[in-house]
Amino acid sequence: MERAFARVAGEPVFAVISDVHANLEALRAALAFLDARGVSSIVCLGDIVGYGPQPCECIELLRARGIPCLRGNHDTYAIAATVPGSISPDATTGIHFARAVLRPVDLDFLRGLPVSCTTATMAFVHASFPQPEAWCYVGYTIAATEHLAAQPRPVSFFGHTHVPEVFFGTGDETRRVAPSGTVPLTQDGRAAFNPGAVGQPRDEDPRASLLICEPAPSIVHFHRVAYDVEATAAALRHAGLPDRLGHRLRRGW
Ligand code: ZN
Repeated sequence: MERAFARVAGEPVFAVISDVHANLEALRAALAFLDARGVSSIVCLGDIVGYGPQPCECIELLRARGIPCLRGNHDTYAIAATVPGSISPDATTGIHFARAVLRPVDLDFLRGLPVSCTTATMAFVHASFPQPEAWCYVGYTIAATEHLAAQPRPVSFFGHTHVPEVFFGTGDETRRVAPSGTVPLTQDGRAAFNPGAVGQPRDEDPRASLLICEPAPSIVHFHRVAYDVEATAAALRHAGLPDRLGHRLRRGW
């Protein structure tokens, strides 16, 4: 997997997606958006399953496209011996659903995924450094400072919060930058980027969120992609999952 990440991160242009959460409509729309721009090198920062109605289909599509993936907390709960009691009711429902429908081939795929990967200049993780499997949220400056200090490369990409973010760190100082449009890839110090969530955005914008990185001009572009939220809401109902999960997607929270 290290090699697959290094191959993608070595491309002149590559995309970073995260938190697909079994939302096939959103994943298809995000990939179609990248296809239309000729971006074929893509990495996924994990949480392929959980919450959404189509975990098997999302795994199948990512595998068919040869997209290197990390393992997120929901992917980990789906293959764990027991579901932890400390997660939210929505998360618990999604995990039980995933555990009921995932096939042995899907479970083997999730088991084989790493929780972080590093290339010569970049680090990729689902949640944060220094402890990827503590599943800490980098959603505010103090957490970002710890993450930036611990990340093993000057530039990192992380997910888990479902909110696009940019943090730059120089010495003890951490700066949060608006994650919209185009942002420089590197400043003087360290940089950490969250592409936001494809399948369950939580910044009150229901559109799928992703980023495109161009290491050579040193630029990151943030994008939002509209998809058929009602189709996913219908699939949730069909799967017997609570309507509340569809409302979350409509509202983006
Ligand atoms: Zn997630």
